[in-house]
Amino acid sequence: MAMSQSYRVIVVGGGLGGLTTALALRHRGLRVTVLERARQLGEVGAGIQTAPNASRILIGLGLRRQLEAIRTQPEDQVRRRWQDGSVIGLTRLGAEVQEKYNAPYWHYHRADLHRVLLDACLDPEGPGPLVAVHTSAQVVELDRGDPRQPAAITADGRRFEGDLVVGADGVRSQVRDLIGAEDTLVFSGDMCYRALIPGDLLAADPATRFLFDRYQSTIWYGPGRHLVHYLIRGGEWLNVVACVPASEEVARAVAGGEDWTSTASVRELSEAYPGWDDRVPAMLSKAKEEVACFALFHRRQDPVWVDGRVALLGDAAHAMLPYQAQGASQAMEDAAVLAEELGAVTVDRVEEALRRYVDRRAKHAGMVQQASFRNRTFYRLPEGPEQQARDAILAERFAGESDVSYDWLWSGTPLDQSDRESFRYPIHR
Ligand SMILES: Cc1cc2nc3c(=O)[nH]c(=O)nc-3n(C[C@H](O)[C@H](O)[C@H](O)COP(=O)(O)OP(=O)(O)OC[C@H]3O[C@@H](n4cnc5c(N)ncnc54)[C@H](O)[C@@H]3O)c2cc1C
Repeated sequence: MAMSQSYRVIVVGGGLGGLTTALALRHRGLRVTVLERARQLGEVGAGIQTAPNASRILIGLGLRRQLEAIRTQPEDQVRRRWQDGSVIGLTRLGAEVQEKYNAPYWHYHRADLHRVLLDACLDPEGPGPLVAVHTSAQVVELDRGDPRQPAAITADGRRFEGDLVVGADGVRSQVRDLIGAEDTLVFSGDMCYRALIPGDLLAADPATRFLFDRYQSTIWYGPGRHLVHYLIRGGEWLNVVACVPASEEVARAVAGGEDWTSTASVRELSEAYPGWDDRVPAMLSKAKEEVACFALFHRRQDPVWVDGRVALLGDAAHAMLPYQAQGASQAMEDAAVLAEELGAVTVDRVEEALRRYVDRRAKHAGMVQQASFRNRTFYRLPEGPEQQARDAILAERFAGESDVSYDWLWSGTPLDQSDRESFRYPIHR
């Protein structure tokens, strides 16, 4: 790997995308400043999955030991039928995925994964310069008077100058607006409930005990709606994501320009699947009060991720529906490719490196965005010939959904040879 002279990168946003980027750039010897608008860094109380395409990157960043301590490993990926919970399709995860893709499929509590990334950014023993992290630092302006030294300006008037700025500031990215990129935000028509359900309650009820027979990553397919769940923290919690068409109230609020988020009662959540297998309400009724509830937005595919020395990454560039569980994983792929490109050049060639980053990532991430959107229809086909044909295919061979194969998705964007070697023979065990 070519070594570059060290230069400074300002990363706006300290979410999973921003922190993976900061860590990957640190490993390449770059000096990174993260600006996060929240007063405290962290993640919401919910689960997250990383498929091999993302786990491979995290392990390549030296995090295997830390991840082993917080991850829960599902044995299978399962799709169930709404009416009776029968299995439509099952594909093995566990050791088989590790073997085939040279990386695991893992589940975590988001806060645990975020903490592992943050600790690694701040670890004095880690490779490369320590990452500087500033909280209560909401970026409201970019000063590009000197285009080779862009500066991010915060709401309280602080100025952070770097050799480039990376906007990892999420689905409603301010950096995106500041560089004048197109407004590609789209309301999906869906809302989603997100809850953590105590594992001990589920294990104690014969109706929901089956969840512990084998740890699985599960989606229930049904007409017009679907339900996702998996266990995290070794079974302490069941993470549930219940995706349904938006109510009229939500649709009205969104049409009025609101980024609608709220809380719902457990009763509302348990009644969200009328006519479904009894095990569904049995599961959902065990959630704790104040279920998080929000409208789901995504972005139209758009390859304009860079303007001069400002680049977009993660949801800021390619926010997608969570119907492929890949939003953060794609941000991690962005981080790995960006670090390869920036790490290989001197500061006078940053623009070329950013162009190559976009060339390598935009089409790939765009395909995942589209596939996630298509799954909205695929998961939710009404009863009939199309649904039967879908189920027949998955029963015979469950190797992907929509028209993107797991093989393609989990292999990820090709990384350079030196990284491939380190992934094949992990040096960080
Ligand atoms: C229900 C649900 C389930 C999901 N499940 C999965 C999954 O299983 N696997 C997966 O890979 N993905 C999943 N995703 C997608 C994933 O959560 C997102 O794609 C990912 O969190 C995006 O990371 P990010 O860092 O780009 O943005 P964010 O996580 O949104 O982080 C952006 C950060 O920037 C900060 N910020 C915003 N504006 C500013 C500003 N102006 N100045 C400074 N800071 C700012 C924010 O406070 C935030 O901390 C799911 C999403 C949802 C909604």
